[in-house]
Amino acid sequence: DNSNGNPNNKDVARPSIARRGLLYIVSSPSGAGKTTLARRVLAADDNIEMSVSVTTRQPRPGETDGVDYHFVDHATFEGMKERGELLEWARVFDNFYGTPHAPVENAIRQGKDVLFDIDWQGAQQLSGKMPGDVVRVFVLPPSGDVLEGRLKSRAQDPADVVAKRMAAASSEISHWPEYDYVIVNSEIEQSTAAALAILSAERLKRARLLGLSDFVRKLQSAL
Ligand code: 5GP
Repeated sequence: DNSNGNPNNKDVARPSIARRGLLYIVSSPSGAGKTTLARRVLAADDNIEMSVSVTTRQPRPGETDGVDYHFVDHATFEGMKERGELLEWARVFDNFYGTPHAPVENAIRQGKDVLFDIDWQGAQQLSGKMPGDVVRVFVLPPSGDVLEGRLKSRAQDPADVVAKRMAAASSEISHWPEYDYVIVNSEIEQSTAAALAILSAERLKRARLLGLSDFVRKLQSAL
């Protein structure tokens, strides 16, 4: 299959060049629309899959174990950490979150990209461990009012949690210069298009096209 998962790619003459998958990290303060954006990217492109984190947080209404998160207790989380099964982990608010290592490795080895909804601490750790593989995108709300409105209308978290997240937003936002791209999410259609444009461009980076030197060698020998 030469389509690379993009249904618009019907170019029959397109040669397949082996590619290493990339780690597409999306961070933002809660309420900036990151989860919606991630869902839309996953729906639009079938060569990228979500990294499902483990967390000690309680499931929210509507969340499914194994889909939104792997919900675990503290002892299980600690065990995974100690056995080196987490690629990165962090404490966010009062809970622990971490990325299981194995699914990520398998995906990128097969040339599949992985999407991460993780905070700045996770982004820093992944950048340190796999600097050539990460693409970091920070999502900003268009204004403070919009952010507060989104947090309140979500209404899944108690009021004190909403207040805590508003206060935390400013410190999360202070990490924006550590990211490769910033999307100001005023309009979700436009933001999705931007996120997909970033993905397309990053897939074309020479350093990720492992099969490129072979391809060029063959091409040259035919000239
Ligand atoms: P929530 O509890 O709202 O699902 O997530 C709270 C924060 O934790 C979000 O900013 C989310 O991106 C971050 N987060 C979720 N999973 C992970 C993870 O595996 N690692 C890190 N570092 N952050 C995570």
